[in-house]
Amino acid sequence: MFKIFNTLSREVEEFKPLEEKVKMYSCGPTVYDYAHIGNFRTFVTVDFLRRFLRWKNYQVISVMNITDIDDKTIRRANEEGVSLSTITKRYEDAFFEDLKCLNCEKAQFHPRATEHIKEMIEICKDLEKNGLTYISQGSLYFRINSFKNYGKLSKVDKEGILEGARVDSDEYEKESARDFVLWKAKKEGEPFWTSPWGEGRPGWHLECSAMSRKYLGETFDIHTGGVDLIFPHHENEIAQSEGASGKSPVKYWFHIEFLLVNGEKMSKSKGNFYTLRDLLKDGYDPMAIRFLLLSVPYRKKLNFTLEGIDASKSSVKRLESFKARIVEEKKKLKEGVGGAEDEIASLKRKFEESLDDDLNTAESLGFLFDAVRIGNSLMDRGEIDYPSLNLLEEFVSEFENIFGIPLSREEILDEEIDKMIKEREELRKRKEFAKADKVRDELKEKGIVLEDTVNGVRWRRE
Ligand code: AMP
Ligand code: ZN
Repeated sequence: MFKIFNTLSREVEEFKPLEEKVKMYSCGPTVYDYAHIGNFRTFVTVDFLRRFLRWKNYQVISVMNITDIDDKTIRRANEEGVSLSTITKRYEDAFFEDLKCLNCEKAQFHPRATEHIKEMIEICKDLEKNGLTYISQGSLYFRINSFKNYGKLSKVDKEGILEGARVDSDEYEKESARDFVLWKAKKEGEPFWTSPWGEGRPGWHLECSAMSRKYLGETFDIHTGGVDLIFPHHENEIAQSEGASGKSPVKYWFHIEFLLVNGEKMSKSKGNFYTLRDLLKDGYDPMAIRFLLLSVPYRKKLNFTLEGIDASKSSVKRLESFKARIVEEKKKLKEGVGGAEDEIASLKRKFEESLDDDLNTAESLGFLFDAVRIGNSLMDRGEIDYPSLNLLEEFVSEFENIFGIPLSREEILDEEIDKMIKEREELRKRKEFAKADKVRDELKEKGIVLEDTVNGVRWRRE
């Protein structure tokens, strides 16, 4: 039974979808710059959750919006002196490239805000009809005192807010519950659309209410985002969606904790960020980065370091070698003896139970590596049987599926390794050392380490 923490109730709850298919909405990127690795902690976790649900045999319909109009995108376009769409197209393309590189699948729908202005206006009209709005200086605001459930997600205190205190900016401080802008009156230098309240543009929060309603309906199962979105973005989204339809829009609110650098949230404004591109340029492997992002349970803060990627790289390599070794062993095994089928089955079950328990990835990986250790030592001693090997193979493939980290490095057979070692020997005899080193490097790439000993060359898988 899958249990998931719900920010709305602040409790871990049994996951029961509203209907057969699970409907999931994820706040996507604001495409004004390259996403940083903190953003990708959130997006990789969303991909992981979707893979996990699928592995639990649910069909998942997922939507992730693209914020292509807000304060930040407009500012960037004005700074560069180019059109808004030049900026947003550039960074949207980059975002999808980065997602692919991290082996994240696309959602079924990636709607753009600018293509859903009509739907946003519809929500505003519903809110107006329900008496939840007012106009001030040509902009339309949501009056939070008229909505009794305001604060139910973030628990923000709306008592004592000054009547008429309001904000126009998209992001604001947690302490300040305020009437927020739904439709902003046209300003010099900003794109605009026509609406019943005059020319202007939508406030940021509105798009997610409009697009989730369009693609998933008035109520759906899971809504995701980083913890910084709880307030004001998601609180305001509830106010808009519920204010318009009268129904609570989301069953499970799923929020991912921050990725930190030296104890501080990684963010553009602090300047303490790495983009995926920065890391790839320095030779880091995207699958090691993905492993790192998933290795800490999503509700715990993750302290990001480059050493952390190195450690994750070793873990991934260890799993790759283990998988390759199982394949080799299955070919060699004539009559299996020994094995540890029960022990491996129990570890596999615990791996699954940890994930069922609100996606405790750290614990689940602990069980996986226990199985790797046991499997390796059985193979070292020549005490493995077919059922144990098969089970280990299944276990590893389950990890690959759920974590979205394929372990099939280019495979190399024992005979091929021996052949390459002979070739290297010949080259060394002929004093063609550069070529000999190249062969050694090729083997290293494939996870084979050579050791020159007094008794000749020995090799082992990393
Ligand atoms: P943005 O493009 O700024 O709207 O952010 C995209 C997603 O990344 C949102 O869900 C944010 O909550 C999330 N996010 C931003 N910074 C971090 C961080 N340091 N760690 C984890 N998630 C983050
Ligand atoms: Zn959103």
